[in-house]
Amino acid sequence: MASHYSFFESVERNFDKAAPFTKIEKGILNQIKACNSVYRMKFPVRVNGKIEVIEAYRVQHSHHKLPVKGGIRYSMDVNQDEVMALASLMTFKCAIVNVPFGGAKGGIKIDPRKYSEYDLEKITRRYTAELVKKNFIGPGIDVPAPDYGTGAREMSWIVDTYNSLRPGEVDAMGCVTGKPVTQGGVRGRTEATGLGVFYGIKEMCNDADVMKMLGMEAGLDGKKVVIQGLGNVGYNAAKFFQDAGALIVGVAEYEGSIADASGINIDKLMAYRKKNGSIVGFKGTNKLKDNTAALELPCDILIPAALENVIDKKNAKRIKAKIIGEAANGPITPEADVILNKKGICVVPDMFLNAGGVTVSYFEWLKNLSHVRYGRMEKRYSESTNSKFVASIEKMTGQKFSAKQKSRLIQGPEEADLVYSGLEDTMISSYDEIRSIWMRSKRIEDMRTAAFVASINKVGLSYMELGIFP
Ligand code: NAD
Repeated sequence: MASHYSFFESVERNFDKAAPFTKIEKGILNQIKACNSVYRMKFPVRVNGKIEVIEAYRVQHSHHKLPVKGGIRYSMDVNQDEVMALASLMTFKCAIVNVPFGGAKGGIKIDPRKYSEYDLEKITRRYTAELVKKNFIGPGIDVPAPDYGTGAREMSWIVDTYNSLRPGEVDAMGCVTGKPVTQGGVRGRTEATGLGVFYGIKEMCNDADVMKMLGMEAGLDGKKVVIQGLGNVGYNAAKFFQDAGALIVGVAEYEGSIADASGINIDKLMAYRKKNGSIVGFKGTNKLKDNTAALELPCDILIPAALENVIDKKNAKRIKAKIIGEAANGPITPEADVILNKKGICVVPDMFLNAGGVTVSYFEWLKNLSHVRYGRMEKRYSESTNSKFVASIEKMTGQKFSAKQKSRLIQGPEEADLVYSGLEDTMISSYDEIRSIWMRSKRIEDMRTAAFVASINKVGLSYMELGIFP
């Protein structure tokens, strides 16, 4: 084990560190910490002619708001403690970005790479049926989403299974998020977590006071970034950083790690990996010692975007980044957190930084309940208003815009524009909230504690407003 603490214990430790700075009474703090419902299931599935018993979980951490929400991961590391930890992180994550859901998480203990698409579909559909049987899924009950090892494909199997078991339920589409757009998904969900990571770090880099405190120039341009994990979150975050002028100087994947101080082109690297099955050997890069070595490269921003516990007390001493953006859930052990803090490395916590996925999932759920695409009602209206403005400006100034300028000025919002702007606003407001708590007292040493203070206060207040304690 990479830490003395289990993953759930480390979330509890972070909670306990922040609790004294909140206004919430002890009994309610104990209730917030507890996992309300834990459903462990075992079910048989026939794979390659043989019956396999599959172990799976769904944990609902807090019912202070409904539905509860959280991803489903497919990994051999899935266990009850991990799912409980991830479910509780979801409660705090939703609270920090003002998404009105309680936290939940699910997991199936399988290595998805070892199964055919047909078998994965059978396992996913059977898991959904188990959730339906126990009333652990539904648009007003519990709404899963993708996580490590799952994506839009699995979500579409889930919605289809749910639909067939609950025929005629008008809001059935809202039983899961992260669906393909053709199956009720929202434009912008695929890249949402990576984009949220980018918006969160960009806001910090534009914060001149904080950057001065960390001994860095403000702005993202030219910043050196290292990414671990080129999956949904890591790839998208890397792409947005690169497009904003940052240099990707190191990448770590399952099979090894590589570095190039002059910058690695992420799309070319992805194409290379697809063709060769590995990032190692990509033109212009150096192969590093092993698959964690890139974490120790000198850089401005390190983005662990693969799994938990990848920075522990052994390698924490060797980390040379100035900012660590926790794109994955729980990538730093509690022991490593202490070491990094002492070294003056600023950790931007997972519960804030990777909340882009749940934020856009919330937009998708709202779209499903309203049964209308974002932008459908207002696009033409905005365009006609914008046309009138443009015509007035031309008349007043006597200058004519080019056709290209005109079409840019007039264009009304598409669904993706609205989703991106809602996400950016969310990440900026949450950053400001965390920052103001962090800067308020010297005793609140780090951003993680500040984020927990903000979340615990919100969840606690919700419980107090419920007011029913039998
Ligand atoms: P994913 O399965 O798409 O990608 C994970 C990537 O990490 C893969 O490319 C995999 O090969 C790589 N990887 C695995 N082990 C590795 C190792 N030892 N070293 C380097 N790379 C390794 O998963 P994802 O959805 O991108 O999730 C990544 C992390 O982000 C997880 O911790 C997840 O809980 C968290 N997260 C995901 C979302 C989301 O919307 N997908 C939202 C919030 C948080």
